[in-house]
Amino acid sequence: MGFTGFMEVIQTIKQMREAASKVRAAGKSIAFVPTMGAFHGGHIRLMQKAKTLGDITVVSSFVNPKQFNEKEDLNRYPRDPERDRLKAEKAGVDYYFEPAVEEIYPPGFLTTVNVSYLSSKLEGASRPGHFRGVTTVVLKFLNIVSPNTLVMGYKDAQQFTIIHQMIEDLALDVHLVGVPTARERDGLAMSSRNVLLSPEDRDKALSLNRALKRVHFLVKKQGILHTGELLQAVRSAINSSGAELDYAEIVNRTTLEPVDHVMRGGTYVLVAARVGGVRLIDSTRI
Ligand code: AMP
Repeated sequence: MGFTGFMEVIQTIKQMREAASKVRAAGKSIAFVPTMGAFHGGHIRLMQKAKTLGDITVVSSFVNPKQFNEKEDLNRYPRDPERDRLKAEKAGVDYYFEPAVEEIYPPGFLTTVNVSYLSSKLEGASRPGHFRGVTTVVLKFLNIVSPNTLVMGYKDAQQFTIIHQMIEDLALDVHLVGVPTARERDGLAMSSRNVLLSPEDRDKALSLNRALKRVHFLVKKQGILHTGELLQAVRSAINSSGAELDYAEIVNRTTLEPVDHVMRGGTYVLVAARVGGVRLIDSTRI
């Protein structure tokens, strides 16, 4: 049923490194997709994109404890390793790196990497230490896999900007490629956390995408570029749904600084809200 080949599952850093050096020694390129498992259509899209960008596709599945600032969020993060492996194999992944927490963070682990400033805004303000956890693990995985290409989703727009900054700042020899957000039929951005939503919560969750679509409408059809007006529309769409808005911001996509006016192509609209105790984010580029 559409299986494109044999996928090798790897659990240790040593084996992953060996596999990657063999690939490179054979003159082949590697495209890498880091994930936290619990695959949905968005992850599959990243894997498919990776297949078009490199000879060999490596996917990591690692629920990174360092990027969770609430123990409860970490504990209830959905996990389904067997189903994930099948999905990755079906998507044509060549190497599936699934290390244990102690493999990545052995006792005595002390080093972190932090992209200052960008990591403290927006999501970072609500989730202190979150991006430090992300950049630390992504850098470690890049050192283990040494891919030519790193594939990540634009859904996590701030994360994308931060990883881009880390690659530039540390002169990492990897090409970052973004993939547009995969959505459910009703417009809800696909997220591993969506399975935690009750039907009623799901209705509220839809307000995030509705708000972003409203911004596109106001900018494109009504020529409104003033962010104050656009943000008012975003806030009222989310608040009126019963979702608990955390933030709504319109920012420059490189500096993440709020802008007064939309600059077409260079602006992100970012929203975060809590619905029934589940934190959801969504974003769009205008
Ligand atoms: P996660 O497993 O949620 O940490 O995400 C792993 C990668 O998948 C990240 O690069 C995310 O940005 C990306 N991703 C998550 N959700 C989506 C989505 N709905 N569409 C596209 N990419 C996504």
